[in-house]
Amino acid sequence: MENKHPAPAIERAPKVSFVSLGCPKALVDSERIITRLRAEGYELSRSHAGADLAVVNTCGFLDSAQAESLAAIGKALASNGKVIVTGCMGAEPEKITSRYPQVLAVTGAQQYESVVEAVHRVLPPRHDPFLDLLPPEGIKLTPRHYAYLKISEGCNSRCSFCIIPKLRGELRSRSAADVLREAERLVTAGVKEILVISQDTSAYGSDLKYAASSWKGREVRARFLDLARALGELGVWVRLHYVYPYPHVDEVIPLMADGKVLPYLDIPFQHAAPTVLRRMRRPAAQEKILRRIARWREICPDLTIRSTFIVGFPGESEADFRLLLDWLEEAELDRVGCFRYEPVAGARANELTSPVPEAVKEERWHRLMRHQQAISARRLKRKIGSRQAVIIDKVATGKRSQASVGMMAAKGRTRGDAPEIDGTVHVTSRRPPRLGEIATVRIDRADEYDLHGTVIGF
Ligand code: SF4
Repeated sequence: MENKHPAPAIERAPKVSFVSLGCPKALVDSERIITRLRAEGYELSRSHAGADLAVVNTCGFLDSAQAESLAAIGKALASNGKVIVTGCMGAEPEKITSRYPQVLAVTGAQQYESVVEAVHRVLPPRHDPFLDLLPPEGIKLTPRHYAYLKISEGCNSRCSFCIIPKLRGELRSRSAADVLREAERLVTAGVKEILVISQDTSAYGSDLKYAASSWKGREVRARFLDLARALGELGVWVRLHYVYPYPHVDEVIPLMADGKVLPYLDIPFQHAAPTVLRRMRRPAAQEKILRRIARWREICPDLTIRSTFIVGFPGESEADFRLLLDWLEEAELDRVGCFRYEPVAGARANELTSPVPEAVKEERWHRLMRHQQAISARRLKRKIGSRQAVIIDKVATGKRSQASVGMMAAKGRTRGDAPEIDGTVHVTSRRPPRLGEIATVRIDRADEYDLHGTVIGF
């Protein structure tokens, strides 16, 4: 008998390889693009060679990042041949096409539609309703238990060394309800820690005039404090990144003291010397900031502050640099990242006089790192003997820890450590910890960056 419903010919799903370069904000963009493509039935390939098409999400923040992006495009072209480029470098497509005219399309950051359209043109999607099914939280590139949540795009500041406002435009915030719905989906999907990111988290909602939107039958304003409070109700760790020390940031510290959001602030101070800050076109009131940090710590003694600094900015004198070291001594920040100043094509800082010689930049970078290492180590040492909540990021496979017979080894983070950028807690435990589980750990010792401890409860 003739089969009236023959099975459709099985056709292989189109495969895309994806390279994501740059900061966590770019990673969120990549997650969104991949989510869309997976929703449409595309498969991800681990290698360019095994894919039908390669997409490279570039970073254009520094010249060195641009060089890395160009190298990644070259590699994708060599191993695959069909390449679409997106991300920050897409703001200046000629930089890419002059070197690689064979690139099939270049789209800018935040242009999900254009990059997806470009993929459709080169590699049309295969329609398959089963493949269209997506986990509701989308596809994440981070481990399942933590996720980045982008609350706004663009920036209204005009720091002289930065071209992000040119690349990404003015601040555009998502409504509070939109952000909270995404956060809820993440939590339902098993996420235990939400990392709030944007170019300037504390400016959130100012472009929307802090308009309220409806979430769970109530109105939530698009305000830094209101959003932090609502996120804090979701029962997971909420970590705030890229916060600038505007006065209203003070309001969030009591939420941290009450355990509603993590006692952690990632504030890119960039420098402490007023002359350098003015040349950077950033607020120059670091004395006041010291007083505020002291007040924050009075309200929330567990507060961890991370920051980044730039050394060797044009015009930075030895006296400016020493002032920065003294400021760090007094501020006692917990975690510090430091960059040697690098001119970025298109930035206003390029017009500044008195560049600092490379050798001096290098020397200052080492001095700052040494100086801060002692401060960070001092602060970490104070945690010895304390009990810390630790989220488990990595579990040792198979073998028992060599250090203590009968114990399992794992790695995790305290509430004061963000993934990728801060320290690690090396833990031993009688029963194997699970990924994403939050354990109570007694801290036994500390080294310059990391802690070591024993699980005493889950
Ligand atoms: S705050 Fe300054 S450094 Fe940060 S994105 Fe805006 S302009 Fe760039």
